[in-house]
Amino acid sequence: MKAAVLYTFFAIILALPLFGAGECPACGGVVTTVGKVADDETKPSKNQWVWNRSICANLLFDEDSLICTRCWLAKDKNQPDTWMRSSLLPDSFVIPLSDAIRRFPEPGNYNQRFVGKRRIESMSFWCADSPDLIGKFQNYCKQHDLTLKLTRSERYPKEVFVDVEQKPIAQQDGADQPATASEAKAGGNQKPQTEKEATPR
Ligand SMILES: [Zn+2]
Repeated sequence: MKAAVLYTFFAIILALPLFGAGECPACGGVVTTVGKVADDETKPSKNQWVWNRSICANLLFDEDSLICTRCWLAKDKNQPDTWMRSSLLPDSFVIPLSDAIRRFPEPGNYNQRFVGKRRIESMSFWCADSPDLIGKFQNYCKQHDLTLKLTRSERYPKEVFVDVEQKPIAQQDGADQPATASEAKAGGNQKPQTEKEATPR
């Protein structure tokens, strides 16, 4: 009996550091640091913002960055209350992506970002710069109230970088301020390169 009590006591003491980093603001999961998580390269990246698997330097996250062990959202060190995750697998988000983003008629790199209680989702990809294709995307975005942003680069003259973004979704507690364009842009700007380097053609 006594041994069992002692064991429980020590188990709690040992487990305390695990909870030291706190709780994920989005899903309530246990938070740890990136340095304590192994990136298994035989499997899809848990979070492409953290492990982009390319030679590009990672400016937003390092070993000390906080990451949720349940939904794999990671905390951006440079902005307050900002957690984000990126994945090529639309169904791999613990808090599911909205249908409008998840069912976009072209696969891409999916992003989920929480800024305080606001959830902002987007997806992006490179494709042929074809008026038919762009027209199709424009229609879809109009129907689903999404913002479509096209970026062209001299390096890839026949292609276009498509960035589709949803208007921020307020979580239950309500949101007071709308997301600013600069917040959304931080990810959008960096992506074209990362994506391109990661998938050379
Ligand atoms: Zn989480």
